[in-house]
Amino acid sequence: MSELPMKMMPAVSPETAEYWAACKRRELVVQRCSSCGVHQFYPRVLCTGCSARTLEWVRASGRGAVKSYTVVRRAVSEAYAAEVPYVVALIALEEGPTMMSNVVGCDPESVRIGMPVQVVFEDWSETVTVPKFAPAA
Ligand SMILES: [Zn+2]
Repeated sequence: MSELPMKMMPAVSPETAEYWAACKRRELVVQRCSSCGVHQFYPRVLCTGCSARTLEWVRASGRGAVKSYTVVRRAVSEAYAAEVPYVVALIALEEGPTMMSNVVGCDPESVRIGMPVQVVFEDWSETVTVPKFAPAA
């Protein structure tokens, strides 16, 4: 009998450490440039708006809308077999950036583009907590 394959876990880097620490506190954060005001995600060293290094972490509202999505019906490996069907979606955050995540807490067939969603957090391990999105109340 063979062991089930492990799920892919996010790698924490110096650029993403604060993001993952915030997720552990159940806070969604994005970077904001104090020079031009742009919000960005994923975490980077430079501002995507003006290339400045003046980036700070700010708490996002956690609200957004489904920008695009797909329903995964065939698991990529045995590690995900119990979860199909599930929704992989691009979420347009209220602050502007787009984040790839899952839409949870509803029938996958009920997900629509433009659907308002709210962040929820899922603990994956002692150190990794990931943001997912559920239909907004
Ligand atoms: Zn900037």
